[in-house]
Amino acid sequence: MTTTQQTHKPTSAELDAADPLAAQRDAFYAPDADQLASYLDGNSLGRPLKVTSENLASFVHDAWGSRLIRGWDEQWMDEPTMVGDRIGEVTLGAAPGQTTVGDSTSVMLYKMIRAAVDAQPGRDEIVIDRDNFPTDRFIIEGIAKERGASIKWIAANPTSGVRAEDLDGLLGERTAVVVLSHVAYRSGFLADAKGITEKVHQAGALMLWDLCHSVGSVPIELDAWGVDLAVGCTYKYLNGGPGSPAFAYVNASQHDRLQQPIWGWMGADNPFGMTDSYKPAQGMRRFITGTPPVLAMQPMKDMLELIASVGMDAVREKSIKLTEYAITLSEEHLVPLGAEIVSPRNPAERGSHITVDHPLFADVTAKLWTKGVIPDFRPPHGLRIGLSPLSTSYAEVEVGVAAIRDALTELL
Ligand SMILES: *Cc1c(COP(=O)(O)O)cnc(C)c1O
Repeated sequence: MTTTQQTHKPTSAELDAADPLAAQRDAFYAPDADQLASYLDGNSLGRPLKVTSENLASFVHDAWGSRLIRGWDEQWMDEPTMVGDRIGEVTLGAAPGQTTVGDSTSVMLYKMIRAAVDAQPGRDEIVIDRDNFPTDRFIIEGIAKERGASIKWIAANPTSGVRAEDLDGLLGERTAVVVLSHVAYRSGFLADAKGITEKVHQAGALMLWDLCHSVGSVPIELDAWGVDLAVGCTYKYLNGGPGSPAFAYVNASQHDRLQQPIWGWMGADNPFGMTDSYKPAQGMRRFITGTPPVLAMQPMKDMLELIASVGMDAVREKSIKLTEYAITLSEEHLVPLGAEIVSPRNPAERGSHITVDHPLFADVTAKLWTKGVIPDFRPPHGLRIGLSPLSTSYAEVEVGVAAIRDALTELL
């Protein structure tokens, strides 16, 4: 009796029953069971909240439909920095006046990295890791070409990620800016943002964190860590919907030093003055370019309020438990079939997804999608299991890993 109790592994039903956040799952729109059995891709596209369809409808009627052009003066002009401040408060550890919303992540990365390079005269090197997300690397290739700068590539361990010591020998008086992902999109490695930022500052360089895979799932303290710049997605763990705009954070100490490269009227000092030439606005507004995507900013507000109501610490606690559970099940069911877990085992070094490698996982993923089991696939062999803490149940993880096992067994 005692021994069975000691070795008893909790079932998914027991874990769900004990989950203090379980009730939050009902807040999300749930498609029919034949459409969806297990959603393991909330790190790529978060699920909509039920309240979002009501709020979008009322935005169409009450704001757009009724206030029409007056809406710009009444609220929409301030929407990028108001929503930005809320993202900052709830998820970034950022005091007001340092965060704005707009553009795609790629364009926002371009604006911020270009601004950082231009603000560091005499420094002509940009540092990034080889395993970073393609758009981050491509944007930097483009900026390096445009500005005659060179790229210093960090060769980090791809199954973990970039550690402070990986920067040794790469930083110096020529380093303009270092760009890293807080959570690596493939392995899920969670970088030591505070320690790395300190090290980058010792070299006199600026630090930009890409928060796409951490914001809304991992607690972040940009102000306390002394981060200069950050950019992140809102359609992943902030559930802003397909193509919802990015956010950017610029530490207040850098506002006057930085000038972004796309000079549009909405980032100018007096947008409706129809002036002859560009003079940047004060504060975060100078990082805006054109008319803000106000409609596309609405859904993320609902998720921010849900996160605020439970707190980022509770979100993180569940995220760790979900990834632990996914690792345990993968070890039990997938590793014996030849799969390899390529994510950190230490939860302190892991974000909210794990990746498991097997040469047949491209075919496995395609098969599962037709059955309503939705992980995603990242070449060459990675099947990614994303665990969005507020919308994912332990039962879904169990169903998902069992389906992966069955599909792999059929193909072996
Ligand atoms: C998802 C993601 C992006 C996406 O960029 P878009 O411009 O929104 O397509 C960029 N960088 C990282 C690290 C990501 O995870």
